[in-house]
Amino acid sequence: MKIPVEKTVNDPVMQSLIDQNRYADAAECLFELQLKSWKLMKTNYDALKDAQIKSFWYDGFKLSVQFNPGRIKSTTAFVDKNAIANRPCFLCNKNLPKEQKGILIKDKYILLCNPYPILPLHFTIAKLDHEPQAISEYFSDFLELSKMLSDKYSLIYNGPACGASAPDHLHFQAGTRNFIPIENDIHQIKNEYGKVICEDEANSITFMNDGLRRIIFIESTDQLLIENSLSKVVEVYGKITGSKTEPMMNLLCSFNNESGWSLIIFLRSKHRPELFFKNDPDKILISPAAIDMGGVIITPREEDFKKIDEKLLQKIVDEVSINPNIFESLINLFKQS
Ligand SMILES: [Zn+2]
Repeated sequence: MKIPVEKTVNDPVMQSLIDQNRYADAAECLFELQLKSWKLMKTNYDALKDAQIKSFWYDGFKLSVQFNPGRIKSTTAFVDKNAIANRPCFLCNKNLPKEQKGILIKDKYILLCNPYPILPLHFTIAKLDHEPQAISEYFSDFLELSKMLSDKYSLIYNGPACGASAPDHLHFQAGTRNFIPIENDIHQIKNEYGKVICEDEANSITFMNDGLRRIIFIESTDQLLIENSLSKVVEVYGKITGSKTEPMMNLLCSFNNESGWSLIIFLRSKHRPELFFKNDPDKILISPAAIDMGGVIITPREEDFKKIDEKLLQKIVDEVSINPNIFESLINLFKQS
């Protein structure tokens, strides 16, 4: 499959990077070109550089809060079936802004610059066909994409019911590597809170509850082993939560040549915390997805940014993560299966 010609960029430098399979560099090249030709994007990335941030240190890890007004649409998006069915899909090629261009990857995805960024370089990788967000069938693509882009970026997947803003159109995100705090903290979290459930030379699976989040961390040098591990996670997690569809999770993945893939899976109880649905002044507009769970919590409203403190943040993250008792049962069931 090809991307429509009006969505391609005719740039010899970028093309030569693609021809050399240097997709991380090609993506950066696209980013620079789009900054020059797309005013909205330039404005939003410039604003991000000055975004206010505050950080809280917990036992072994950090969470930051980013005041990011540009994310208001995404944070408050209606993601119920009716609302989705009644809006034009913003990831289908025909509906993309005219300035937005992309790079074809693996003959079935288009890599696009995200015009409403959280990360310093932030991309969306959308499947060319309009089909529902679900990872199982595309997990091998997700791993391959994370390898292809690993020089500079980490890969992100948000489940359809816990953070994907287009649950009807399969997509991933890619963004600046090691910007999300958990990417730097994960080994410390593993040491302090980890229960290693299986471990051999090529693959290990660790369950951890850091007091706020319930996480499964898979490290693997073998693609087939990590695919099998995730299938097992989805199966057991789905069983214990009684999910008829994909159980709620956010994925954050990176790759390097020595240690292979690092896959962080956040297990979720719900998409939005109770405070999201309150009226002002109690309301807090936070709508956690993978990046938030990884430690960059987005508040599009300044009043929420000011209000949030260490305790409130802890309460929210804990609330949207699966219940610790269910997590313990999951560990036991996983051991037995
Ligand atoms: Zn679509």
